[in-house]
Amino acid sequence: MTKNSQAQCDTECNTADQNTHVKTITLGCRFNYYESELERMRILAENPDQDVVIINTCTVTHEAERQSKQAVRKAIRENPRAKVIVTGCAAKTSYEYFRDLDGVHKIVQNDEKTKFDAGTLQKSGRQLFEDRTRAFLQIQNGCNHHCSYCIIPYTRGKSQSLPIEFIVEQIKYFCSVGINEIVLSGIDIMSYGDDFQDKKSLADVMETIINQTEAQRLRISSIDPNGIDDRLFALITQEKRIMPNLHLSIQSGDNDVLRKMRRRHTREDVIDLCNRILDARSDFVFGSDFIVGFPSETDECFGNTVKLVHEAHLSLLHVFPFSPRKNTVAAQMIQLPRTTINSRAKILRDVAQDALSLAMTQNIGQTRSCIIEKCDDGVSVGKTDNYLPVKVKSRHDAPAVVPCKLLSIDDQDNVLLGEFV
Ligand code: SF4
Repeated sequence: MTKNSQAQCDTECNTADQNTHVKTITLGCRFNYYESELERMRILAENPDQDVVIINTCTVTHEAERQSKQAVRKAIRENPRAKVIVTGCAAKTSYEYFRDLDGVHKIVQNDEKTKFDAGTLQKSGRQLFEDRTRAFLQIQNGCNHHCSYCIIPYTRGKSQSLPIEFIVEQIKYFCSVGINEIVLSGIDIMSYGDDFQDKKSLADVMETIINQTEAQRLRISSIDPNGIDDRLFALITQEKRIMPNLHLSIQSGDNDVLRKMRRRHTREDVIDLCNRILDARSDFVFGSDFIVGFPSETDECFGNTVKLVHEAHLSLLHVFPFSPRKNTVAAQMIQLPRTTINSRAKILRDVAQDALSLAMTQNIGQTRSCIIEKCDDGVSVGKTDNYLPVKVKSRHDAPAVVPCKLLSIDDQDNVLLGEFV
């Protein structure tokens, strides 16, 4: 599973153009951010004078779907003159709900969303991600797997990849407009190129980007722990333009639960991979997604998840309390009590806090290349190259990449405190 399935559904990102009336509200995965930008550009290109609100919804958990509906209702309420367009995964799973909701102008299904092409870009005369620090570049869509809890293959269809030449063209464009960091994203990015006649892999894409573009800071959005072949391993551990940070789609630290989830890795795979990467590149920081309270998860199974955080040196955890999705295998299983699920989520979030503190402590004293995401009231905030949050009590224009010496931890904001050097 990628970040796009159970992960990141707790996030909502809003962008509005100061000079126009196109606003996007994005829930869910990074993939959705990219698509929201495309849709915004298409509308600006076709009719820049329209008042439009696009809500890119998510359905990966029950909660994500609830939040999506809430976001649409709120958008209708707060923008009575705007055309409200609903798209994303919940536009499919809750089609009737949105169709019958007063104030929804149009529903756009995932396969009707705007595809990136240079023509759209030129017509709009604007920059994709113009107000962003980093660009999320969608290189793959859909998924051929059938994890037992996941609705994504139903909402997004089979895996499809963008041609490498097209990806290179887009990255050159991002570089030309000064975007400092590019995150390659996809629903199941490890399947990249499986759908081509002359099979390609993620390693092929990464190598080509490195050889043919000027991109200085590359990241991969989220990958399966068992999908990293030797070439990709060599790239992420040796190529300095790939940032020392990976987000792993782990979901559980217990092999029985992983089997029931129909995942394709074991806890041993995760431990082995993380330790091998750290041996080769010691400043790596790992992020990961976990679902807690999956049907059949015992206290012992959950204990294995907690142990895995330490054994695999995981630092940036996203914890998702399990919620069954209609039409999935896991929804037919005997569910755990909600109180058990919630209390395990709380325990794992506390573990996550300790793990993040440990990673931040280990980085104190180092000077790292940081990307400044914003600056408010003379305080600059951003991320280190290994994706730890950092704050500097002095002004710097954003976005920018600057070296920062990491001095201490700001316990109140839970970030590293640094100084520009
Ligand atoms: S089916 Fe599995 S691999 Fe595919 S998107 Fe869902 S969780 Fe990820």
